[in-house]
Amino acid sequence: MSKKFQVVIVGGGTAGITVAARLMNEENPPSSVAIIEPSDKHWYQPLWTLVGGGVFPKEDSMRDEGDFIPDGVEWIKDEVTTFAPDDNKVETAKNGEIGYDALIVCPGIQIDWGKIEGLKETLGKNGVASNYSYDHVDQTWAFLEDFGGGNAIFTYPDTPIKCAGAPQKIMWLAEHHFNRIGVRSETDVYFASAGGGIFGVAHYGEPLGRLVKQRDIKTRFKHTLKKVDGKKKKATFDKEGEEVVMDFDFIHVTPPMSAPDFIKKSPIAAESGWVDVDKHTTQHNKYKNVFSLGDASSLPCSKTGAAIRKQAPVTVENVQAFLKKRPLKGSYDGYASCPLVTGYGRLILAEFGYGGVPMESFPFDQRQERYSMWLLKTQGLPNMYWHGMLRGRA
Ligand SMILES: Cc1cc2nc3c(=O)[nH]c(=O)nc-3n(C[C@H](O)[C@H](O)[C@H](O)COP(=O)(O)OP(=O)(O)OC[C@H]3O[C@@H](n4cnc5c(N)ncnc54)[C@H](O)[C@@H]3O)c2cc1C
Repeated sequence: MSKKFQVVIVGGGTAGITVAARLMNEENPPSSVAIIEPSDKHWYQPLWTLVGGGVFPKEDSMRDEGDFIPDGVEWIKDEVTTFAPDDNKVETAKNGEIGYDALIVCPGIQIDWGKIEGLKETLGKNGVASNYSYDHVDQTWAFLEDFGGGNAIFTYPDTPIKCAGAPQKIMWLAEHHFNRIGVRSETDVYFASAGGGIFGVAHYGEPLGRLVKQRDIKTRFKHTLKKVDGKKKKATFDKEGEEVVMDFDFIHVTPPMSAPDFIKKSPIAAESGWVDVDKHTTQHNKYKNVFSLGDASSLPCSKTGAAIRKQAPVTVENVQAFLKKRPLKGSYDGYASCPLVTGYGRLILAEFGYGGVPMESFPFDQRQERYSMWLLKTQGLPNMYWHGMLRGRA
């Protein structure tokens, strides 16, 4: 084995960096910690909604990964290819085997662009946009800025996705923008979703449903996007076995997503493909020295950075307890938050735990659209992310 560390972290995204920083801030940090992460860059993905809406340039969402690897942590700039949990090691593409006493797995979610016929070829052209790609996110705004009316479609796939609110946030921004530039009366705005409602958590679904009516959004539920023909400007959906073709002038696609393939094929995956962990302790259900959090984990919460903010201290507490052979006391309650941008200067702050139970932070009705919550999203949260969360302090 080429190297061994007390703790190895797979993935240096939101979860990996937050956990590493928190581990190193502990009074007695592990004796050696490594992060295996291939990317030079780190992205604050929640900003991409606002980039697509023309509020920020996309470069504001990106920093050098090296600036966030905590002091004392070794960065192995490589990718993990396979896991050998019975032998306490992972295999990497360039650095051979890496051993560990405890492993924390957080390589994020995989975007399955290829599952929608024609999408890869036309993304970023012909009015076809997606905020789910850094490379194309600025094109969303380029299309919206020049929009001259017609059909604007916003899709939602039939798989778990990161940030379940993002597919509609860009719709609300676009709808507001169409009003501002005077093309709303010549525009039909469609929310075409594989799901059966506007939002999965009933507490917030109700006020959002009211906005759908007020702002004349045409909903097309149980519609799963299957094909995009950019040149002909046609989107083909499956509606419970029936083919439905819609013309578009602009379409924002939220692509299907799944666990990364190397996780799916590995012994640490559950049948669903996600890393198989206990929903409260984040510890693997079979391999007790393996933990997982974030988008790649089987935690049955909403896949968001906000959820990771609450999962990270639990994982750190439990990894430390495991290493010291103590009982695991940290317990995650499923908390996730979704700042539902409902227009420029308007936001409904959804916060909920397992089972969709509201877990709100503020002493006012968070189901109302508020300018203060827009400021939280545009100013407060990005600062909190870069200066607090990624430093293990928030
Ligand atoms: C458009 C959009 C809007 C969003 N809005 C919000 C929001 O408003 N609020 C919110 O809380 N969240 C939001 N999110 C979701 C949030 O960004 C993610 O949930 C969060 O970043 C997931 O963190 P993660 O660490 O699990 O994965 P990531 O941050 O994606 O990091 C995964 C890391 O693993 C690395 N990796 C991948 N494969 C390997 C491998 N084989 N070996 C080693 N490393 C590997 C990757 O390079 C990457 O750095 C949004 C996301 C998007 C795309």
